[in-house]
Amino acid sequence: MKKAFFYEELEDKKVRCNTCPRRCVVRDSETGFCGVRKNLRGKLNLLTYGLPVTTSLDPVEKKPFYHFAPGTNVYSIATMGCNLRCKFCQNYPISYGWSKIEGNNVSPEQIVKNALDTGSQGIAYTYTEPTVFLEYCLDTAEKTDEQTYNLFVSNGYMTKEVAEKIGEKIDGINVDLKGGKNLYRDICEVYDESPIYDALKVLKREGVFIEITMLLIPDFNDSDKEITERVEWVKQNLGKDTPLHFSRFTPRHKMRNIPPTPVETLERAIDIADQKGMEYVYCGNIPGHQREHTYCPDCGKNVIKRNGMSVVERNLNSYGGCDNCGYEINIGGKKYIDMES
Ligand code: SF4
Repeated sequence: MKKAFFYEELEDKKVRCNTCPRRCVVRDSETGFCGVRKNLRGKLNLLTYGLPVTTSLDPVEKKPFYHFAPGTNVYSIATMGCNLRCKFCQNYPISYGWSKIEGNNVSPEQIVKNALDTGSQGIAYTYTEPTVFLEYCLDTAEKTDEQTYNLFVSNGYMTKEVAEKIGEKIDGINVDLKGGKNLYRDICEVYDESPIYDALKVLKREGVFIEITMLLIPDFNDSDKEITERVEWVKQNLGKDTPLHFSRFTPRHKMRNIPPTPVETLERAIDIADQKGMEYVYCGNIPGHQREHTYCPDCGKNVIKRNGMSVVERNLNSYGGCDNCGYEINIGGKKYIDMES
């Protein structure tokens, strides 16, 4: 257990958590919406601190990060709890479908050691929502040295002050922009999604490397209009060089009656993003698709060739430019990879 970083004390031993935009007011002995932040005698505590419920070693591409230290392995951790209630959640048993907090006792120092022992170049805070276990993430990131990167895989539903704090130590973030107002309200129990966009602007300003994922759910968020609106926002506010992943939905949890996203839908979304001038647009969860590779926006050369989650060929110069025409490819975390190889 650890005292929370972002909260204020109110009257009658109540507290207001300022970690995510729900800004829960929590009474003594109660927990906030996420179930893992508890008020104990007027102080807010993170119950899941040091209690990872799952860890694994993954290619960074699996997160997905296609432009941050491509080809490296990342040690991934999660604790229980989430600040959303997505009906399609693939990690439902650990995000919000639990009755008791579980996890193994592992200190931030030990997480870093485990990451290094497994040969990974970084640590990813993922699977559930890292904003909700923020203190554990940041204390762990604090223990890493210059050789190890730190990544968030997030729903982006965090306060601006948290986004600023993340910028101090987290190198990259992949934010899942789930859809329009109705989807957030009806499927995720988020009644105002604007803080997600505000947080993204702060993260960009703070120099955090950003990739965006859009999971396309048939008939929920896959209309041309909705896709266009989100793509335009990303281009305008984060830049045309922001890697953009359109990801296939597969039936799960409370949305098992919805069919998987047709490949044609993903390709329609890719066409829209291409036409809007986005430079790096990917097709997710369709292994072998031609849009799993990175193409130079200038000359069209395949500069990072992938086979599923593996990088099999890199055609970049030592500065991260296309080795055919020299166009600078937006690559984050270059210092973690050998650009000469
Ligand atoms: S992190 Fe949890 S307790 Fe804090 S505001 Fe968000 S849902 Fe509420």
